[in-house]
Amino acid sequence: MNIILLGPPGAGKGTQAHRLVAERGMVQLSTGDMLRAARVSGTEMGKQVAAVMDAGKLVTDEIVIGLIAEQLDSASGGGFIFDGFPRTLAQADALGALLESKGASLDAVVEMQVDDEALVERITGRFTCGECGEGYHDTFKKPAVENICDKCDAEGKFKRRPDDNEEALRTRLMAYYKDTSPLIGYYYAKNKLKRIDGLGEIDEVAAHISGALAG
Ligand code: AMP
Repeated sequence: MNIILLGPPGAGKGTQAHRLVAERGMVQLSTGDMLRAARVSGTEMGKQVAAVMDAGKLVTDEIVIGLIAEQLDSASGGGFIFDGFPRTLAQADALGALLESKGASLDAVVEMQVDDEALVERITGRFTCGECGEGYHDTFKKPAVENICDKCDAEGKFKRRPDDNEEALRTRLMAYYKDTSPLIGYYYAKNKLKRIDGLGEIDEVAAHISGALAG
């Protein structure tokens, strides 16, 4: 099964993708994670996109489509979860063509609906463990022992994304409404769209997604 998790920054796409990977053996393809990895490893492309990402703007279609095309060749498993991709109509067209060229198709597009105020609260409080990637939040999910990761016990390794500040978030939200939200109509017209409430607890949202994928 190949699915897209669609939603604004902070909707919980990454969190829910991790669950689907653990529970269904699916493969998560997050262009945001791929771009951050390119920055850390200091590739030419990584340097090129750094300022764009920190400002909360979209990286070019060419770069992200290239990243996804590479991964579709190498990865397999219980299907793909596209997380943070596509973000423009051009990317959506390219994804359709790429899947078709591999004899595959898209099964569902899950739109995670969360209102703007909740997004700001979620994003400005979030941080992750730099060792294992476990996600935390200042209000909703604090580590049991301050400064130590619940999952891997790493100490002092928590980090925050440079674009998780209010100004960059505003730009990211506007990019979502302007460039990405047209995909809602695009996939509705293709009869792929499933809309779910993304506002509840992680388990509740996961149950909504399972229901949407089963239905
Ligand atoms: P994310 O982790 O999905 O929130 O992405 C972080 C940042 O990476 C975004 O704000 C963009 O600058 C860039 N990015 C990630 N995915 C895409 C995409 N599909 N198209 C354009 N830019 C992207």
